[in-house]
Amino acid sequence: SNRILFRNPTSLRRSFASSRAVRLSACNHFVSHDDTIANKANKNTNFRVAVKDNIATAGLPTQCASGILVAHVSPFEATIVKQLRARGANVVGKTNMDEFGMGSYSTNSVHGAVSNPLSEGEQLSAGGSSGGSAVAVQLGDADIALGTDTGGSVRLPAAYTGVVGYKPSYGLLSRYGVVPYANSLDTVGILAHDASAISDIVFNTGLYMEHDPSDPTSLSQKARQRCAKASPSQLPPLRDVTIGIPAEYNIEELDPAVREVWAATASSLESQGARIVPVSLPSTKEALCAYYVLAPAEASSNLAKYDGVRYGVRGANGDAAGDTLYSEARGSGFGEEVKRRILLGTYSLSSEAIDNYFIQAQKVRRRVQQDFDRVFGLENPLYEPRQFDLSEMSADLELADKRGPVQVDFLLCPTAPSFPPKLKDLESKSSVDAYTNDVFTVPASLAGLPAVSVPVWPEQSRLPVGMQLIAQYWDDQRLLSMASKLQ
Ligand code: GLN
Repeated sequence: SNRILFRNPTSLRRSFASSRAVRLSACNHFVSHDDTIANKANKNTNFRVAVKDNIATAGLPTQCASGILVAHVSPFEATIVKQLRARGANVVGKTNMDEFGMGSYSTNSVHGAVSNPLSEGEQLSAGGSSGGSAVAVQLGDADIALGTDTGGSVRLPAAYTGVVGYKPSYGLLSRYGVVPYANSLDTVGILAHDASAISDIVFNTGLYMEHDPSDPTSLSQKARQRCAKASPSQLPPLRDVTIGIPAEYNIEELDPAVREVWAATASSLESQGARIVPVSLPSTKEALCAYYVLAPAEASSNLAKYDGVRYGVRGANGDAAGDTLYSEARGSGFGEEVKRRILLGTYSLSSEAIDNYFIQAQKVRRRVQQDFDRVFGLENPLYEPRQFDLSEMSADLELADKRGPVQVDFLLCPTAPSFPPKLKDLESKSSVDAYTNDVFTVPASLAGLPAVSVPVWPEQSRLPVGMQLIAQYWDDQRLLSMASKLQ
């Protein structure tokens, strides 16, 4: 049987049992759900999965929390959902999110904001854009949840709600049937209470080796085999593990309590035998700006199809032709943030701006990838063996002391610079404030690397801190094993 066997079923059940009483809609985290399926699933050995509303499901609508898709029901199902069903999953519902995945707080939704179950008194943000999925796991409404992570949307809500959020290597899980936001960055991510539950699904059932011919960015079978050969699957004992602390992530804006947890996590790993070394990723500062040029550029192209003709609902004067039809449909269907991204992206791709914005951002992206490749002990299995260039090597040498020792297995840093904000306070925040919150999650996205957010609960704190581990491309299995060690 290809059923999932959770390696740690008792701890899973324990965390769910305590929260069973919570109503499904308590935090506005579901946009549609099927109680009958959920109840049936409870009596089975099957597991329950909550699916972000930008992932196509048969039977339940797929509307990306957008006004423009309020009438949309997908005629087909995403590959990842089919793959999970084949492994015994029941889809319990679709989860609330930031419209088309654009946001960091799950507030940009036609259904209203998702609230964080850890709130006491004033409502806190659940993080976004996969906030509904994180809450579904947190409350025990689902055993696992699917989200999408383009620049941090699985990791950030995981950090805010105290669950594990995994963003796989780019191209590992199929994106067929996932509504694209920024294709070169989009990944399907998984949320659960335990990193080992995620690892069971992805690795013990062979999901990671399944190429999807319907998704052109799904890694080919041959490349998967090559990557698997290059990537060890077993985590060695901690005394043989080196963990890098990227100096540039220690920013001024970091909440002191988050910094403390970061240091304490590193110390605890060191006391268990791991080697902790400082590393430098000089491109970190530019990564965020590059992301907010590239992601909107791709989004502006992807969202062009919502014009009220092929996709999307028509405006009040729906029968008007040409420009009026488009502007009515798009003007009334899209939310403010989505419109802002479309304008940003259209501008940065225009002939007057492309050289200064889009092309520069691509260059930064390359530098981000190179920085990561330099610090990881494993080679990036996607690249051909390196051809040495002596002039480049002397440039490297000049920077050598700044860049610290190479060859780490994982990088350890916070997932977010601060604790979940109050929903009320977000109303007065600018969109740029929201963008800066992604500073720690976008670098791994730009480089296509696997990353996971693990909740760490500081003593006497009611709110968790998400600690992020990042690994070399396709080193996902060891990454999840390492994540279990932090739990
Ligand atoms: N907050 C980021 C954005 O708004 C990331 C979103 C995501 O990963 N889908 O683009």
